[in-house]
Amino acid sequence: MRGLANDGGLFNPVLIPTLDRNLFNSISDFTFHEISYLIASKFIEEEVVPDKLFEIIIDAINFPAPLEQLDDSTFILELFHGPTLAFKDFGARFMARMMEHFAKDLDKELNILVATSGDTGSAVADGFYEREGIKVYILYPSGMVSELQEKQLTTYGKNITALEVEGTFDDCQTLVKQAFVDKDIRKRINLSSANSINISRLIPQIFYYFEAYKQLERKSGNILVSVPSGNLGNLTAGLLAKKMGLPITKFISGTNSNDVFTKFIKTGKLEIKKTIKTYANAMDVSNPSNLARIIDIYSNDIEAIRRDIYSASFSDNEIIIGMQEVFEKFNYIIDPHGSVGYLALKNFVTENNIKDYEGVVIETAHPVKFSEVIQRVKISKLKIPENLIEIIHKEKNSIRISKEFEEFKVYILNL
Ligand SMILES: *Cc1c(COP(=O)(O)O)cnc(C)c1O
Repeated sequence: MRGLANDGGLFNPVLIPTLDRNLFNSISDFTFHEISYLIASKFIEEEVVPDKLFEIIIDAINFPAPLEQLDDSTFILELFHGPTLAFKDFGARFMARMMEHFAKDLDKELNILVATSGDTGSAVADGFYEREGIKVYILYPSGMVSELQEKQLTTYGKNITALEVEGTFDDCQTLVKQAFVDKDIRKRINLSSANSINISRLIPQIFYYFEAYKQLERKSGNILVSVPSGNLGNLTAGLLAKKMGLPITKFISGTNSNDVFTKFIKTGKLEIKKTIKTYANAMDVSNPSNLARIIDIYSNDIEAIRRDIYSASFSDNEIIIGMQEVFEKFNYIIDPHGSVGYLALKNFVTENNIKDYEGVVIETAHPVKFSEVIQRVKISKLKIPENLIEIIHKEKNSIRISKEFEEFKVYILNL
């Protein structure tokens, strides 16, 4: 419920639980929900009773994570079958139901503030929609999100309010931060945040690495998993899966031109640069918050990190070439983020001359979310998922506010 620890640091498990070896031999006997329950209960069985936890998992993860095969050694784990078409649905839906469960014990309604540049906001809106005892306020920069993203933020209604800020994403974030430290607000309003560093978003992301392993027919003993990376939450969840016993040989972390993590793996040093806008925009991050967790999981040992993780970065031009190649070779339309994952896997196996392996590329979003980029690739027409067609026809509903904190404060205090 707190998100951040009192010293401003991130929560990380003190002990990473392991799963029984037998599970890996009989994993195909388990459903996705059963595997998810086994994993979650290892972390939080003392907090949530078994029946409730199972119920939350079934309700949160009401969509599959299918593994598509491209050739003998290349697979795509599709994580975009949730309501907002990106993997963030796993984390946001699970976190929302967990918070609803614990909000029952609060005497005041819980108000969630979240600033978004697009994708996080829609996953959070969907996740918290109709959760009892919780209201969500999404701040987004007016005119700076795509039309589809805006519809995904502004058409829920009920306990979800979209605040259209006359400013940039940074202005939105500043308003949220100011609200959290404002004494009057703190005194009167029960505030929480739903940002991506909440540990309850990482736990459900562990589930699908096991689900991917289950779906591999031949488990060669040389499994490579390639994760398109930004804030490194998805990669961290994968590393936790490996620490829990999942037999993955190597993680491959693809970055776009914001290559801070790739450089970190090479040099062991963190050099924060200015964020660059790229085609894989959900990975436009220059100070990845989950890096602190990775360093902690590996007890500050850069050599140990290098043994488990390879990283490579790709320009916009290469991202387009990757999308084109995947379409021409396999007749599969991959999104710009998935393209980074595909290219990073290819780099790793080529550089190291690896022949016998199973390579799983994590596909983080549905390509339809990035139609502006797709237009640059010569491919056949994309099929638009039905729930999107529905959203496009809904009426936008937002409250316009300026970027002045005093105005925002009055609004919050009148909630
Ligand atoms: C958030 C996001 C990413 C980056 O994931 P991290 O966990 O921040 O590394 C990659 N692709 C898409 C589509 C995303 O929405």
